[in-house]
Amino acid sequence: MVLDGRVQPKLIIHGGAGSSLKGKGGVEVVRHSLFKVVEEVYAFLLSGASALDAVVRGCELLEDDPRFNAGTGSVLQSDGQIRMSAALMDGDRRRFSGVINVSRVQHPIDLAQTLQNSPDRVLSDYGAAELLRELQIPSYDALTDLRLQEWIQERQENFVKTMAGVVAEQELVEPSNARRGTIGVVALDEQGRLAAGTSTGGKGFERIGRVSDSAMPAGNYATAHAAVSCTGIGEDIIDECLAGRIVVRVTDGLPLLVAMKRSFSEAQEHQRDFGVIAIDATGAIAWGKTSEVLLAAYHDGQQIGDTLEMSEEPIVQGLGDGG
Ligand code: ASP
Repeated sequence: MVLDGRVQPKLIIHGGAGSSLKGKGGVEVVRHSLFKVVEEVYAFLLSGASALDAVVRGCELLEDDPRFNAGTGSVLQSDGQIRMSAALMDGDRRRFSGVINVSRVQHPIDLAQTLQNSPDRVLSDYGAAELLRELQIPSYDALTDLRLQEWIQERQENFVKTMAGVVAEQELVEPSNARRGTIGVVALDEQGRLAAGTSTGGKGFERIGRVSDSAMPAGNYATAHAAVSCTGIGEDIIDECLAGRIVVRVTDGLPLLVAMKRSFSEAQEHQRDFGVIAIDATGAIAWGKTSEVLLAAYHDGQQIGDTLEMSEEPIVQGLGDGG
């Protein structure tokens, strides 16, 4: 919808997908956390903020919420360290930036934002640490007691050995054990510009050096036509090149919901485990999941809604003209 030359802003955010809401405090607690962020970021969009700035703000707020696996509250990797990844894509300028496996920073998304205007736009561990130093960003400990206890519990067997395995053993990285989480934000601003951001602590217990989909165009992608953020098992998302695939389909002319449904039915042939949030340039909002739950909430210009009580079956749904 366009009023006085201004587009009605749209917003959708997620706090991950997975098998249950129990570990996160239940439906009402998660809803409260997500709605607070939607309210603040939607008001920011209404005040004239760009989609890119709104996405960064939303990611920062979600990174600060220890309930979600990004920033504060990130899960630990196989060696007990936190390494976070984040990406930002400006659909208007079709520009991707990101950081991979960065430690000791409160808001990994801020690094991705800084890199939007750099000739080198994706930095990994050592390079990202150098950037932190250059920007004089204070060192931050993202570890929470809950995450430490989870790791210790999972690693109990290791402490009877003389040496802990520093590389994840196969049985500990089975998808059913993975600590799925991640946060993402997709926005359409008053000028009709789209952006997407995604930030994660990863799957949990992964091998050192494992690279998450969240800092790849497979997990976070946008053009002037559509913007998508994914969550779930990163390897599944990479194999489907999911965010890129949906966005390219919309860019080629498919309605958003049709593009999502087609991409999901292809993915389901391979038993993928993930969730997706998306917005297109017409203002259509869509979400979908193959996992049991998707922790997402949105503002469609009239009201706030969420996806917390959807059926456990794989599903793709949407609002607006995208399908
Ligand atoms: N996609 C993230 C990863 O595999 C995890 C998640 O979304 O929960 O690193």
